[in-house]
Amino acid sequence: MEWKIKGKVVPKAKMSRYTSMKVGGPVRYLIYPRDENDLIEVIKILKVEGIPWRMLGNGTNVIVSDKGLDEAVIKITRLKGFLISEVQKGVTVRAAAGWSLKNLIFKIVNLGLSGLEKLYSIPGTLGGAVKMNAGSFGVSISDVVLSVTYLNCDAEKEKLSRESINFSYRSSPFLSDMCILDVEMALIPRTKTEIMSQIEFVLNERKKRHPIDLPSAGSIFKAVNGVPAWRYIERSGLKGLRIGDACVSEKHANFIVNLGNATAQDIKLLIDKIKKEVYEKEGVILEEEVELWGFDG
Ligand SMILES: Cc1cc2nc3c(=O)[nH]c(=O)nc-3n(C[C@H](O)[C@H](O)[C@H](O)COP(=O)(O)OP(=O)(O)OC[C@H]3O[C@@H](n4cnc5c(N)ncnc54)[C@H](O)[C@@H]3O)c2cc1C
Repeated sequence: MEWKIKGKVVPKAKMSRYTSMKVGGPVRYLIYPRDENDLIEVIKILKVEGIPWRMLGNGTNVIVSDKGLDEAVIKITRLKGFLISEVQKGVTVRAAAGWSLKNLIFKIVNLGLSGLEKLYSIPGTLGGAVKMNAGSFGVSISDVVLSVTYLNCDAEKEKLSRESINFSYRSSPFLSDMCILDVEMALIPRTKTEIMSQIEFVLNERKKRHPIDLPSAGSIFKAVNGVPAWRYIERSGLKGLRIGDACVSEKHANFIVNLGNATAQDIKLLIDKIKKEVYEKEGVILEEEVELWGFDG
């Protein structure tokens, strides 16, 4: 197939290279559009060819099956843009969805703006964070979102204001073939020292609580009625449970870590086993927070 675009197309890209869990087989195409027009062109081509597509940010919340996906995956991390405009009651920042949250927050902190710092150690992109309504330390990205501009599945640009976006816990209404382009956020001026002390707190807590030295996809399961999933998993005696090189972290029971050569199938079997054991021992149904791509059923 001939691609008349400015960006890059990688056929049969192995997702183990592009996800934080470091597992997953090939996708049909991994596409990096160069700019917004290029992205629109890519979507049009995929539509004409009848090839389904999904967006990929930093791949920190997805586990792709070992057989991979007969689909295209579009990564917009090379599309950048940053705009800042002061408004009366505070400050509005509009940023491109491909920004890594860390880099974006660092930039915002340097401008003396507060609101995102508790999300500092989430390793995803801004687009991925909005799609997942990512959050930590009691703050969710939806708390600061003012509007989201995105491309619908016909590659038409649309803008939704916060009131019409039905965010809920770790969930948003954006479908997998919609591309979040940029996000407008309401932030508050604060001294850099104050913001930096929050960031230090976040980093220290993360170091203490999370197995950050091993590949993972963060929390595997959602909290159940406000009770963190790790509590049920820990009480069920599952810490350290291992299938192949996939292991329930000893440090944080809601993390599955890849000890080296885990396969996606090892991880899926471990997820199913945790769900079964927790249901039998605690009577609680756990629901995945991570997205499983390309698994049957
Ligand atoms: C060590 C570790 C710690 C973590 N801690 C937290 C935490 O504290 N809180 C938390 O909420 N999460 C956490 N996560 C999970 C993850 O980082 C977040 O869910 C993050 O927001 C995912 O962003 P991403 O860019 O990696 O998205 P991806 O994993 O690439 O994709 C996730 C979803 O977003 C979609 N998506 C990505 N970009 C776009 C776009 N531009 N437009 C439309 N859809 C898009 C994808 O299609 C997919 O549906 C953690 C993960 C790790 C590995």
